[in-house]
Parts: sequence; C-alpha cells; structure tokens
Amino acid sequence: MPGIEPTILILIVCIAMFACCESEDPPSHSDKAGWGYGADNGPNVWGRLSPNYALCATGSRQSPIDLRNPRSASLPAIAFKYQPTPLNIHNNGHTIEVASSGENRIEVGGEKYSLLQFHFHAPSEHTVEGRSFDMEMHLVHRNGEGALAVIGVLIERGSRHVAFDPVWAHLPQTPGEMKRIEGVTVNPGDLLPGDTRTYRYDGSLTTPPCSEDVKWLVMATPVELSEAQIAAFKAIVNKNNRPVQVLNGREILTDF
Ligand SMILES: [Zn+2]
Repeated sequence: MPGIEPTILILIVCIAMFACCESEDPPSHSDKAGWGYGADNGPNVWGRLSPNYALCATGSRQSPIDLRNPRSASLPAIAFKYQPTPLNIHNNGHTIEVASSGENRIEVGGEKYSLLQFHFHAPSEHTVEGRSFDMEMHLVHRNGEGALAVIGVLIERGSRHVAFDPVWAHLPQTPGEMKRIEGVTVNPGDLLPGDTRTYRYDGSLTTPPCSEDVKWLVMATPVELSEAQIAAFKAIVNKNNRPVQVLNGREILTDF
C-alpha cells in the first residue's frame, strides 16, 4: 500500500478490529434472553428476562408441582407406540436432549401425540409428598393441533439400567455439542418403568416460555439408575430443576 504511512495503517487496522468486536458483542448477549438456573438468570427471574417469558411469573397453572393428595379416577389408558430410534443427542446448555424421529407416539383418550424429544433434569422437578428424586426424564409429545403432553419419569438411585447405556455412552460434554451416532438406537419404551400408572394434571413447560395447557402424565413408579450413571449425568448438567409451583386449586388425578 504505497503512500500510506505505517502508523496510519496500524490506526486503520485498530479501528477495523474495534468495530468488528463491538458489532459482534450484542447478539451473543441478547440471544434467547439468556435464561438458565443461576442466581442472575434462574427460575425466580425468568418472568422478568423477556416479555415472552411473562407466564413464568404470572401463570396460574405452572409446573412442576408437588404430587400429593391425588384423587383416584377412571382415566383413559396410555398406549405407548415407541420403537428403536437412531440416537440424535444434543447438549443445549440447559439439559441433554435426545431427538425423536418419526414413528414414536402415545395415544391417550383418542388423541395421538408424537414424541418430539426426551431430556433430563437433576434433581427431579416433580416431588411426591415433598420427596425429591435424583433425576427426572421428560418425554415431550405434541398432537396435530399443537397441544403438548409430557410423560415424566422419576429416577432414583439403585441398580444400573442398561437400557440407558446407548444414551449414556454418548452424553455430549460441552454446551452446544450435537451428535448423531450412526448405528446406535434407543427405544424410549425401554426407559419407562414396568408399571406405567400415572399422576395426571394440567400444567406448563418447566422452562421458559413456561407455556400452559400442557397435559402432564407423571409415572408413579420411578426407574433406577446406578450411582455411577447419575454421577455421569450430573458431571455435565446439574441443578437444572425449576422449584415446585403452587397448585392453585388444580386437581391431581391418578389411574390407581
Ligand atoms: Zn423437562
């Protein structure tokens, strides 16, 4: 570059670098309003982080809840239509999530809900008569009209559960990490307890935007994972549980 003094050239480079870094900064900070589980961005402030998250503070049918004093009722059976699914697994910074493809669904009360994904919380989000569990799995389903139904499975410390091995062998360690594991499948049905009787109530997503009208079906019988399996998850994601929310007169039903 003839005719430009070296000092001017250095100045131009400095201005260019400054402009670059200034312009990159805001998007990374405003991305998805930065919710999490820390003191500054945790459940107590979700409702203030974004107008889109208002229900987290103002909703009246929120989840999770403490499951107590249920009423036994005659409820439609849940038919589980699950099958082995290619392992597609994602650490989204809030949880470890396994995507479902295609043919996994439940049918309940004449409604068909397709499985979208399942993911985990540690410790559990729902409690049973005040008792917290080591972990909780959520299998998130949606019907043709967009209504959500979530199966909750409480997880307690006990024997090693080999059906979880395909997932646990490939847990992505780093937030943002996504893996598709060729030749490895997981059948969500193998991750359920043998006894599939449930608590049922109407609630919400337990993460922002805390949308309501979510049909909750929480298995009354926990599944067991070994101490090592639980520790392997908690080494990557821990304390990603929203505290229990007020019932506000909602009824908790059981099919037992
Ligand atoms: Zn969840």
